[in-house]
Amino acid sequence: MSDIEFRGVTKTYPDGTTAVHDLDLRIESGSFTVFVGPSGCGKTTSMRMINRMITPSSGTITVAGQDISGTDPVRLRLGIGYVIQSAGLLPHRTVLDNVTTVPVLRGMRRKAARQAALEVLDRVGLDRGLAHRYPAQLSGGQQQRVGVARALAADPPILLMDEPFSAVDPVVRAELQAEMLRLQAELRKTIVFVTHDIDEAVTLGERIAVFGPGGVLQQYDKPDRVLAQPANDFVAEFVGRDRGYRALSFRSAEQVPLTEIRTATVDEIDGLRLLLGDWVLVVDEHRKPMGWIDVTGVEGHRAGKSLYDSMSAGGSLFPAHGDLRLALDAAVSSPSGIGVAVDDSGAVRGGVVAGDVLEQLARQRAGEDSDRNRHYFDQEPALDEDAR
Ligand code: ADP
Repeated sequence: MSDIEFRGVTKTYPDGTTAVHDLDLRIESGSFTVFVGPSGCGKTTSMRMINRMITPSSGTITVAGQDISGTDPVRLRLGIGYVIQSAGLLPHRTVLDNVTTVPVLRGMRRKAARQAALEVLDRVGLDRGLAHRYPAQLSGGQQQRVGVARALAADPPILLMDEPFSAVDPVVRAELQAEMLRLQAELRKTIVFVTHDIDEAVTLGERIAVFGPGGVLQQYDKPDRVLAQPANDFVAEFVGRDRGYRALSFRSAEQVPLTEIRTATVDEIDGLRLLLGDWVLVVDEHRKPMGWIDVTGVEGHRAGKSLYDSMSAGGSLFPAHGDLRLALDAAVSSPSGIGVAVDDSGAVRGGVVAGDVLEQLARQRAGEDSDRNRHYFDQEPALDEDAR
């Protein structure tokens, strides 16, 4: 068990700034919790009090039921991995040496530590061939993976991650987020993750703690609830205008009906007879989408112009087992108005239009309403588990 609990924790810095005000928060063992909020509202200070890099002015923090103020900070930190922005790697040490630092400090023999380090590199999706490089010889995303590998090397039950992915580009960031979710499904560590990005919080967190001005916790809840039922105006404004749209990502698109899509291979384009407004999806030999084509595209093709001039399938794809947000975005961003559902191999399964996605949303909601009514009239003691 490695649950973490804040009880009445306040931190006032010597200059009088109150960074965290009267924080009560219980983080379950094995959960992924995200501290989110605008800059300067006490997220990092709260996180750093967990490994005693910062000492609270008042209140208590317990880890696994033990008040940490009475523990040896060095020992405490050996059980808590720490990942920071831009990885914080030692620049004059190789990847392997960076990853083995903590296990060796903990008394592991160097050879065993190196073997274990290679396994951790596999785990975070890094090629073992990079083990002897120096941090500067890696991309930003690879450095972050080394940072995660280093934090995991000693197999600590708790992982603290302070804006670890904010210095990498959005594509790599999404990859790292997916990797974290995969890792957490395997490892079930107690993870506390700080970000100012609500999208990242919602993607990663099982629970999210929204911090506000003066270091006051505003809401601590499951991400879908923060989006659907922000506790106050501050949270509503922070989670932003697109919150209804974001909330679609918690709903499965599996029940959305797939329509048949007219497809053609590149060789078949010349034989297509299209009217204005007809769209055909060009696919490769494995039925993977290459792009949409309409009558102007076919003409352009005949005129020897690039086949893809009028096509942009990229944004209009989504995995068939994905969520309603992906499905709606695929439909809306597609030049044909049809989002393309693909299977795990990337082959076309069928198409969805925005109206069907919205209808599915309405159907799911109607089901939830009738569940709620049934509970209400059955006089169940409470409607939601959190109120119990
Ligand atoms: P966040 O992580 O949400 O950006 P921080 O915990 O870093 O917020 O900071 C919370 C508040 O405490 C901010 O107003 C910040 O300026 C202040 N602060 C942080 N560290 C110190 C410090 N060492 N001395 C004085 N004030 C600090």
